[in-house]
Amino acid sequence: MENQEYIISIQNLSKSFDGKKVLDDINIKVKSGEFVTLLGPSGCGKTTLLRMLAGFLAPDEGTILMDGKDISDTPPNHRPVNTVFQHYALFPHLDVYDNVAFGLKLKGVPEKEIDERVRKVLKIVSMTDYEDRDVESLSGGQQQRVSIARAIINRPKVLLLDEPLSALDLKMRKDMQIELKEMHKQLGITFIYVTHDQEEALTLSDTIVVMNEGKVQQIGTPADIYNEPVNSFVADFIGDSNIFNGIMLEDRKVSFIGHEFECVDEGFGENVPVDVVIRPEDVYIMNQDTGAQFTGKVTSCTFKGVHYEMYVNTDDGFEIQIQDYNAFEVGSTVGMIIRPNDIQVMKKDHVINRFEGQMTDSSHVNILGEDFECPETGFEAGTRVVAEIPFDKVDLTDEQSDGTLYGEVHALLYKGNHYHLTVRTEDGDDIFVDTNDVWDKGDLVGVNFPAQDLIIRKKDENV
Ligand code: ATP
Repeated sequence: MENQEYIISIQNLSKSFDGKKVLDDINIKVKSGEFVTLLGPSGCGKTTLLRMLAGFLAPDEGTILMDGKDISDTPPNHRPVNTVFQHYALFPHLDVYDNVAFGLKLKGVPEKEIDERVRKVLKIVSMTDYEDRDVESLSGGQQQRVSIARAIINRPKVLLLDEPLSALDLKMRKDMQIELKEMHKQLGITFIYVTHDQEEALTLSDTIVVMNEGKVQQIGTPADIYNEPVNSFVADFIGDSNIFNGIMLEDRKVSFIGHEFECVDEGFGENVPVDVVIRPEDVYIMNQDTGAQFTGKVTSCTFKGVHYEMYVNTDDGFEIQIQDYNAFEVGSTVGMIIRPNDIQVMKKDHVINRFEGQMTDSSHVNILGEDFECPETGFEAGTRVVAEIPFDKVDLTDEQSDGTLYGEVHALLYKGNHYHLTVRTEDGDDIFVDTNDVWDKGDLVGVNFPAQDLIIRKKDENV
C-alpha cells in the first residue's frame, strides 16, 4: 500500500471555525523519522493542524492516516503521539524525576523499569544531575528539557512540538535548537514542529511545510524552500529577498528592473508577467561599471557582523538590497551583475483584479456588493459581467468613509519601486493594489475604482 512508507498521511484536510476556513484542503505526507516543520505567520493554522494530529480537534473534512490507518476515531491517549507545548505544563509540586516518571507510574510500570527509563531520557535531554530538583527552580530551557523528557518517555512514534522554544531568550533558543536536533537524531522518532520563526525552521528541519491562510504554499527541504520559492509569499517569508515584477520574454530570458537578463527558466511562454526573486547575497557588486549589467548609487551600508547590508538605487529607479563581504561607500556609483542561476522566476497568482457582477444600468456595475460607475457599456441592467481593474488604478483613501468600499491592508510586498498590497474587504474579498504610498499592515482604508479604469465585458465572453 502506497501510504505505508509514510508514518503520517494527511489527506484533503479542512477545518472551519465560525464559518471561516482556517485549514483548506491540506495534503502532507511525513516519512518515519523525519523532522518536519510547519512554518507560517501567526494565524495560518499551524496549531490547529497539530491539534488534529494529537486528536484534540476533529477535522471537518479529510482524513489523517498514521501507519496507514485512519485515526479519526482514535482518542488522543491511544494515538502513538505526544505533544510538547510552548508552556511547560509541569507539575510544580513534583521534582524533576517525578515529573518525568508520572505517566509511567500511572500506568503501573514496575519501579525498576521506571527508574531505568527516567534516567535514560534525562540523559538524552542533558538533565542527568537534576533529578531531585524542584522544577520551579529550573531555568526556562531546563523546564522545557523536562517537558521533552516527559513527552518521550512513553516512546511515542511521533513527537509534536508546538513552538517549544518561543518562551526562551535568544541565546537559550539557539542552544536548544542544536540540542533538539541532536535529540531527534538520537531518538529516531518523527518530529512535527510548529514555528513562525523561519530561521529556526531552516536550521532544524529535514522538510519544511510553508503555510499561509490555511493553505500549504510549498513543501520542500530548507534549501529548496530558500533557493526555489514557488511564489512571492514564500520568497518574502523565508529570508531576505528582492522581489520585482518581471516579464518572461522567452525561454531563458527575463526582463526586470529595466534590463534584460539571461536566466535558466523555461516553459512560461512569451511576454508573460512574472515575479522575480533575487537573494541579496546573489547580487555581485563592484566599484566600476565596466562589465556590469546595470549601475546605481549606494544609499546605505550597514555592518551585520559577517557581511555588509547595502541598499542601492539603480539608475532606472529601483531599490535593491545587497549583501557583500566588502563595504561600498554611501553615495558611490557601483556596477552590479546577477547570474542566470541566481534569478528565480515565479508565476504570478494574479495579474489584474477581476470581479464577477452585474450591470445596474448601462454605465454602473454591481461588484463586491456595491455599485460602481463605469464607462458606458450599452449593456442592459441585469447583464452578468466580469469587471477588471489594473492593480495600479485602484485608489486608496485614508478615510474609510471616502471609499465606495472599505477594507484592511492585509498583506504588503515591496517590489523595489512600489508596494503591492492586498486589501481585504469586510466580506473577505481581496483587492490587489500597486501604489507608491506607504501603508502598514492593518491600516483601514477606503477603496475607489475610477470609472474610466474599469474594464467591463460580458461574463461568457472569452478573455
Ligand atoms: P499562532 O502562531 O498565532 O499560534 P497558528 O498558525 O498556530 O497561529 P492557529 O492557532 O491554528 O494558527 O489559528 C488559525 C486560525 O483559527 C486563527 O484565525 C484563530 O483565531 C482561529 N482559531 C483557532 N482555534 C479556534 C477556536 N477554537 N475557535 C475559533 N477560532 C479558532
